[in-house]
Amino acid sequence: MRRTAAGGVVLLLVCLLTTACGNIRPTPQGIEDTPETSPPATEPAPAPSPSASPSPTPSASPTKIRTTTPPPSGTTAPPSAAARPALDAPGPAGSRRGTGNSGVALTFDDGPDPVNTPALLDLLKQHGVKATFCVVGFRARDYPQVVARIAAEGHTLCNHSWQHLDTLPNRDDDYLRWDLKSTNEAILAAAPGAKIQYFRSPYGKFTPRVVAFAAELGMTPIYWDVDDQCFLTDKYGTGPGMISHMTREVQRDTRPGSIILSHENKKPHTVTAYRTILPWLKANYTLVAL
Ligand SMILES: [Zn+2]
Repeated sequence: MRRTAAGGVVLLLVCLLTTACGNIRPTPQGIEDTPETSPPATEPAPAPSPSASPSPTPSASPTKIRTTTPPPSGTTAPPSAAARPALDAPGPAGSRRGTGNSGVALTFDDGPDPVNTPALLDLLKQHGVKATFCVVGFRARDYPQVVARIAAEGHTLCNHSWQHLDTLPNRDDDYLRWDLKSTNEAILAAAPGAKIQYFRSPYGKFTPRVVAFAAELGMTPIYWDVDDQCFLTDKYGTGPGMISHMTREVQRDTRPGSIILSHENKKPHTVTAYRTILPWLKANYTLVAL
């Protein structure tokens, strides 16, 4: 990869500020593995943008909806609930933060991971639950058999950009168009005929321009309502402490209509945590694919 001296300094700063220090200067060809790791602890504040924020349109109700949602057992109302945006309030740049109905949707980002994604698929199959997988383009290219299985088992595919650039919204039009289109092409090469109706910008960094490029490809931008914080490994490790933390976050924050954000790439603890989280969610909510 060629870098100018000035570019190198900027790159170093960007790398220090983010944990996703991979191919910051990609070219469409020759992209190597990007060590995408964790979203920043603080996601951009959800800023309703009236200029480009159509209200999320409630979609058709899932076939199985509880008329009354039982309170999550063993938990109390989330203390932060009052401070959280309403589910029908738009996320950044008009992205969707809720399912549009009372169902709860699971979203798994940054894969496909050759080990963890199949393990999650096994778990989802065991529980009869459909989820949404927001896949990274070059990983879809590298693990097409996993993408094919996601599609074959009836889960929803979502474009999570080609290589998870922190700087995606700053890229020029040609790059953005290439990035999103190439990701869809990699998905479709693995799963011909798959529908790719959703797009999630890396780190939830949606801007009206990024959303417009996604719309060109027929994709709806999805944000999230609940974050399981699986990336806080410095604080919680990857063992029982992390499993407890993730479970606590999901049990505290999930409400009817939530979209839950999780990550499985290089995160086996997510699979472990979902062995606890999934039965709990199933007992308390109707789980829907987007
Ligand atoms: Zn991601």
